[in-house]
Amino acid sequence: MTFVVHGLPVSRGIAIGRAVIVASSRANVAHYFIAPEQVRSEIERLRVARDGVAAEIEALQRSLGDEAQDAHPELSALLDVHLMLLQDEQLSHGVRQWVSDRHYNAEWALTAQYEVIARQFDEMEDPYLRERKADLEQVVERMLRIMRGQTTLSAPAAPSVNEGPLVLIAHDLSPADMLQFKQSVFAGFVTDVGGKTSHTAIVARSMDIPAVVGARSASHLVVQDDWVIIDGDAGVVIVDPSASVLAEYSAKQKRGEVERERLLRLKSTPAVTLDGHRIELLANIEQPADVQAALRAGAVGVGLFRTEFLFMGRSGQLPNEDEQYHAYREVVEGMHGLPVTIRTIDVGADKPLDGHTRDDAHLNPALGLRAIRWSLAEPAMFLVQLRAVLRAAAHGSVHLLIPMLAHASEIRQTLALVRRAREQLDAQGQVHGPVKLGAMIEIPAAALTVPMFLQHFDFLSIGTNDLIQYTLAIDRADETVAHLYDPLHPAVLQLVSNTIAECQARGKGVSVCGEMAGDVGMTRLLLGLGLRSFSMHPSQILQVKQQILRSDAGKLSAWAHSVLQADDPAALMAD
Ligand code: PEP
Ligand code: MG
Repeated sequence: MTFVVHGLPVSRGIAIGRAVIVASSRANVAHYFIAPEQVRSEIERLRVARDGVAAEIEALQRSLGDEAQDAHPELSALLDVHLMLLQDEQLSHGVRQWVSDRHYNAEWALTAQYEVIARQFDEMEDPYLRERKADLEQVVERMLRIMRGQTTLSAPAAPSVNEGPLVLIAHDLSPADMLQFKQSVFAGFVTDVGGKTSHTAIVARSMDIPAVVGARSASHLVVQDDWVIIDGDAGVVIVDPSASVLAEYSAKQKRGEVERERLLRLKSTPAVTLDGHRIELLANIEQPADVQAALRAGAVGVGLFRTEFLFMGRSGQLPNEDEQYHAYREVVEGMHGLPVTIRTIDVGADKPLDGHTRDDAHLNPALGLRAIRWSLAEPAMFLVQLRAVLRAAAHGSVHLLIPMLAHASEIRQTLALVRRAREQLDAQGQVHGPVKLGAMIEIPAAALTVPMFLQHFDFLSIGTNDLIQYTLAIDRADETVAHLYDPLHPAVLQLVSNTIAECQARGKGVSVCGEMAGDVGMTRLLLGLGLRSFSMHPSQILQVKQQILRSDAGKLSAWAHSVLQADDPAALMAD
């Protein structure tokens, strides 16, 4: 039966595919298709893992001994339950089917079948039986652990036509999980939680595939293998669509593809307004590999390299100076002389270094030890990153960007550490290059003290995602207040406009690198407010360029300033 789930549109386009439900804790399990001739070896891997877990449990039972078993009857019974679940026919038969019929790799097949059985446990009336879901989860986790230790017998294969596209449905995915899926088989994503500018949504956007977040209970309503349409423009998920709805969306999907092809023709066209203002269109990237997408879209530089993604999902093993240097150098050289803005690490809040969901250990993680605050609290780690960036700067044009500054003392400490990093490199005889120094304006306190920032920095970059979050007191990752997250709030617009004007008055560079810069509905307003440098995901560049080519910045100025004065700026946006 068809039903519709509503969420927040975060990445444009239409995806149609079968649902793969993934629990966030298992999101880092490999998902790939195997070749048909690998089915037997993949099933063998599962058998080995199952037998391995059975042997572990039996060894545990033996180690308990008869006396201990008498002393802890509940533990002994629990181990029996685990053994029983492990040998359950529904589990092994289902898993075999995912492998042989769908060609899922072993880990994926196991987690897919786990989700099917877990759903049945959830629906049980008997609380004792319902709780057995946790036991099943433990058994599955044990098998996954054993498989992690195995050498993979099968190399990933491309999906064959009859496997069809797949879409991923999860309760929550961390930005690091999302990054994992970057090279994956999924044609679209849906998560129950998250706001439009949550970092998970940002990574989804950078992958340029349709995504909907904040879809509340999608991961409970959708069943493994359901057909699903994701409308990333409208924020709608249609489950089990009828043939006519499917045909309608397939046609829409094709129109979208044609439009993208058409936009590609603008790649080498300079971004100049009708009245001759040249606009700089830069790329936001998360990984060195994203440079290719930036160049394909015709970006004239990288306006924001979110370096924290190099640090995530490494089980506490932070990348050392050389590793970082090579990653930064790869980007700098990959951009062939175009400027690269490297932002120092911004972890915390909804970007935890490890673990899969946000840092809720602190009462207000978004107001806590995040970004530059974290770096200044860990000066040794920060110096490693600064030295790596300064070394990479010897290979091209590098701008060093500092996130979330608010206080004069933070500025002083940061600049002192940049000087110290240079001295350390000199002492080691290491080659390093000059950098332009920039600060992000992400906190209202910073936007209200722009002249102080301009005394110390060569340029500013407005991080509207956080500036909106902190101006309006709306957690950007919380879907329950997403309707209040408003880039057009007069207070936000005044802070943005004020920052642009102050930079221009002092002849300093200013750009916007938050999601507002890539929102084509905002392009005319930002042009009218005087912005001449925009940084966004490569996938958004050509659409924004098209809008710029159709705009007269001079004429937009008066209108933009009337929008700025309005109580309800949204009402004037269509003028
Ligand atoms: C921003 O806050 O607008 C920004 C670009 O930084 P991030 O989204 O990584 O917090
Ligand atoms: Mg930010």
